[in-house]
Amino acid sequence: MIVLNYHELAEASPSNAWCLTHQAFEAHLELFEDKLIAPKTFLERCSDSDADDAVLLTFDDAFVSDYTRVYAHFMKTARIPSFISFVPVGLVGESGRLTWDMIEELDKAGASIGSHGLDHVDLTTCSDRELERELTRSKAILEDRLGRQVPLFAFPYGRFSRRVWEAALRAGYTHLFTIQLGGHRGFEPFLYSRLCVTNAMTEDYMRQHLVDPNSKRGLAWKASAKLGLYRSMMRARYR
Ligand SMILES: [Zn+2]
Repeated sequence: MIVLNYHELAEASPSNAWCLTHQAFEAHLELFEDKLIAPKTFLERCSDSDADDAVLLTFDDAFVSDYTRVYAHFMKTARIPSFISFVPVGLVGESGRLTWDMIEELDKAGASIGSHGLDHVDLTTCSDRELERELTRSKAILEDRLGRQVPLFAFPYGRFSRRVWEAALRAGYTHLFTIQLGGHRGFEPFLYSRLCVTNAMTEDYMRQHLVDPNSKRGLAWKASAKLGLYRSMMRARYR
């Protein structure tokens, strides 16, 4: 399966590389709308291999466009909102971000809500105490609001290390989402790779990614995968 990571959607003039226009996002949807998979189905099948070409949508940073564009799109097409919204809990209610009412509505309607920490900090630079607070406090607040378990976590900036993932697992998260090329399965069974979509990625790039999510990987990956050394190489890198 293929997991895509989006951020803000805007009418025009994207403010940064991770912001897409509505038009660009809709063109992407046309490419893979019939392959979209609900988070629940993804979680049931995610321990399988990469063979399946289903697409899971994720949105980071709790931008209000998760509600006003993405959720609205699914409502318009009378479909269950099939995406995960990763929420940095400390940003909820700020200008341009989701409110708690919106988050609760998304959750009730069938979108999945995951944690993206509290204050959107690079967790690899946090002290042990701050790290634990980012992970456990954000989880507890979301669970209190939603009245259910929140097992999904996305690393802010895609930055992580072994210390960070061990703390996330200790905090009770079971599925940790990174920013890495390739199919959905990361180099550890609890890590899930996502393509971070930027507005420089053309429709051709996206089309290619859907056909072969490994096509943009470098020589090091190709060589180590061939020799069966990829996992140990990554474990050494993220020590
Ligand atoms: Zn983020």
